[in-house]
Amino acid sequence: MEWVERPDPVPQASQVVVDLTAAGVNFIDTYHRSGLYEVPLPLVPGSEGAGVVSAVGADVTSFESGDRVSWVVPLNAYATKVAVDAERLVPVPAGVELDLAAAVMLQGMTAHYLVTDTYRLQPGDRCLVHAGAGGVGLLLIQMAKSIGAEVFTTVGTPEKGVLASDAGADHVILYRETDFVAAVEEIAGPRPLAVVYDGVGKETFDGGLALLQPRGTMATFGNASGPVDPVSPLVLSANRSAFLTRPVLFDYIESRQELLDRANDLFTWMQSGDLNVRIGERIPLSEAAEAHRRLEGRLTTGKVLLVP
Ligand code: NDP
Repeated sequence: MEWVERPDPVPQASQVVVDLTAAGVNFIDTYHRSGLYEVPLPLVPGSEGAGVVSAVGADVTSFESGDRVSWVVPLNAYATKVAVDAERLVPVPAGVELDLAAAVMLQGMTAHYLVTDTYRLQPGDRCLVHAGAGGVGLLLIQMAKSIGAEVFTTVGTPEKGVLASDAGADHVILYRETDFVAAVEEIAGPRPLAVVYDGVGKETFDGGLALLQPRGTMATFGNASGPVDPVSPLVLSANRSAFLTRPVLFDYIESRQELLDRANDLFTWMQSGDLNVRIGERIPLSEAAEAHRRLEGRLTTGKVLLVP
């Protein structure tokens, strides 16, 4: 990645241009950069951001210059000025700081759809959240606890364990030192979990399946350790009629109403103090490459923001 000068974007009829306050860094940005998820090159990475509207396309009636907005779309957010389709913009309420709004668009909405729709978590359910001190992880733990689930989580270091605990996790497992399957079963007996929320992928997938109760759900939603190998349906029968899903955020915010509803829940919880958004670090936009090195090197916690 290089920091380059480009012409200012001019909004198409359905677009607005936003002057960036902050762009979020997400694991998906590293997949776009590495080619794991194919996108046309050259590209401006970045899947979420927030800022202030500075120009409006001819057909846009719902936003005007000066509005505070945030968005989540696959590319283009690592820039001081970003053209976004008005349909995909979310108004940010007065009580929410713009950098915090940027921080929850992708990871917050992901945590939201995972617990509300991918597997609708119930009070008393036992769930496992991998990488519990990460961006999605810290938010997922808080949402699972607010529903009343018992939360097991894995983390890479004791310091990350403290963050996951503070977010409300009931059981924190250092999975680089301990076999997490044995650790969960020691606490809760054989196959205790209703659902595994797994953003780590290759290294944790098999272990998670082995912990599911009959008709449990494996929600494998990411590849932080590499993509999961192909799975035969017979693996699911051997794991007590497990349900397997590989969800993607954009299929859960396809309609504008769904996008606004999820954003509204997040902003409401942030304003009431029910959802704490941890900004692990703020890095200059021009040093985005360093932000990727840190994220891929397991050196970050919570949200990493890029600021102009
Ligand atoms: P995180 O902040 O969680 O960072 C990833 C974490 O994964 C690391 O901090 C690390 O935590 C853990 N990890 C485990 N093994 C590795 C490894 N080999 N290399 C690097 N990290 C590893 O990232 P995000 O919150 O942005 O994303 C988490 C996951 O969720 C990603 O896989 C991402 O693709 C996925 N995702 C999927 C979405 C969807 O809709 N499908 C949407 C959003 C995110 P530790 O040190 O504790 O092990």
